[in-house]
Amino acid sequence: MTLPPVTRFAPSPTGFLHLGHVVSALHARASAGQGGRFLVRIEDIDTARCTSAFTAALGEDLQWLGLWSQEPVRQQSRHLAEYTHVLTELRNRELLYPCFCTRAEIAAASTSYAPDGSIVYPGTCFRDGRSISGRVPVWRLNMQRALNELQEVPSWYEVGQGRISGRADEFGDVVLARRDTGVSYHLCVTHDDAQQGVTCVTRGRDLYDATSIHRVLQCLMKWPEPHYRHHALIKDEGGRKLSKRNGVEGIRTLRAAGWTAEQVLAHPLVLRALAES
Ligand code: GLU
Repeated sequence: MTLPPVTRFAPSPTGFLHLGHVVSALHARASAGQGGRFLVRIEDIDTARCTSAFTAALGEDLQWLGLWSQEPVRQQSRHLAEYTHVLTELRNRELLYPCFCTRAEIAAASTSYAPDGSIVYPGTCFRDGRSISGRVPVWRLNMQRALNELQEVPSWYEVGQGRISGRADEFGDVVLARRDTGVSYHLCVTHDDAQQGVTCVTRGRDLYDATSIHRVLQCLMKWPEPHYRHHALIKDEGGRKLSKRNGVEGIRTLRAAGWTAEQVLAHPLVLRALAES
């Protein structure tokens, strides 16, 4: 017997809810189907960019749209001790090391790029056992050691496509604990998906490549493997990427202009993005 799916919509409260969010939330809710559960999670570990006012506004707008969580909302900033616990375990297993390099030092020393376009860390601090007093380190995953332990580069299951080969080996030593927050997106998202029993991670295609890293963490921590469904991102009439910066419509603006929730859910850009899936 297969269990009903559990899916989530996991916005970061760095601004107001917009049509791109609506597309993501609708995709996630559709993944839950009739018998499944749709959760909302607030990913607010980046305290410099996330605010409680945006968190409250996201909640209000999602409720107005009828896209609210079927379980109490998990807010990442309230669970920092759990993430620290995972970091401690990985550190004890000698899978993490402190890195004191600045961005400029890394950019100057590295010549390769990861599948997501980020710079691959050249491994300086690990190789040289570097420690610089007065600088707070980030903590990096020793990817080679992790993959040796797993004896594979983990793949994932993409709904509608089947198994996708992972590319974690091309990412190098990714940061799992940032200098400013002490945690990271990769760490918190995988921890929470496991903790909340998410069976189908539904999110935008911009996070497709990050899945390779997420699978490594799941395998290292023996967390269950969810399925993934990466959906098309919302685009403007000309097919260009729509973002907060180039005018993606805010739900509050539409509400103020007299749109009903039903009309917002059937906005032409939303329907087009959903059809593209
Ligand atoms: N919080 C992330 C964002 O707003 C989404 C994370 C995820 O779905 O894995 O882009």
